[in-house]
Amino acid sequence: MICEICGTNCSKPSKFDSNSCQKRAEAIYDVARDGCDAETGSVTEDGVWFGLINDLSDHENDVYGAKAAVIMEDSEGAVTVAVYESAEEATAAFEESAEDLADGNENDLKLERRYDNEQEIDA
Ligand SMILES: [Zn+2]
Repeated sequence: MICEICGTNCSKPSKFDSNSCQKRAEAIYDVARDGCDAETGSVTEDGVWFGLINDLSDHENDVYGAKAAVIMEDSEGAVTVAVYESAEEATAAFEESAEDLADGNENDLKLERRYDNEQEIDA
């Protein structure tokens, strides 16, 4: 199956396999490891970590047109990347996740579902 985002067969079992495009998710995760604009949570203490990147255009990685992103990593190492059209949208999503985490609502499945849905609005 050819991925509509990267144009290759990027689907394989990996820590990125919950994403609609694994190549894009991996490229953005790579950017996140160099530093995020904001981050919250901890994989070991909270079971989930969130990172925010407001401007992906600064980086060398091909992120297939993504402008901004929120990255979520869970205690099992699975990484879900939600991409956004603007820094404002990404920041709002990040803050919502940070509030959920602060309130103790860090239900992984709920978060994952929400992020999966939001991924579909990119293009
Ligand atoms: Zn792909």
